[in-house]
Amino acid sequence: MTEHHRTAHPAPHVDGNALAGPLAELFAFDVTDAVARCGSCGTADVVARAMVYRSAVGTVVRCPACDDVLATLVESDDRIWFSMRGMSAIEVRRR
Ligand SMILES: [Zn+2]
Repeated sequence: MTEHHRTAHPAPHVDGNALAGPLAELFAFDVTDAVARCGSCGTADVVARAMVYRSAVGTVVRCPACDDVLATLVESDDRIWFSMRGMSAIEVRRR
């Protein structure tokens, strides 16, 4: 039987509401100007150069270098689901 050890988190923390300020700044821009780094091949390029495939069920954003999925977008009348799972980082220039 394997014994699992939980890692203690000695540093004090706050909840996700603390992200409101920095993330509001991060997402209040034209995302196509941002630089996305591919989680598969490491290529970093502006989102505007990504390959976007649209279909009735949603949108898939692929890396222009390795073709792996960077992000997916699914829209309904009242919601949007956006996953950036294939990006290891996104870089936004402050204005
Ligand atoms: Zn790639």
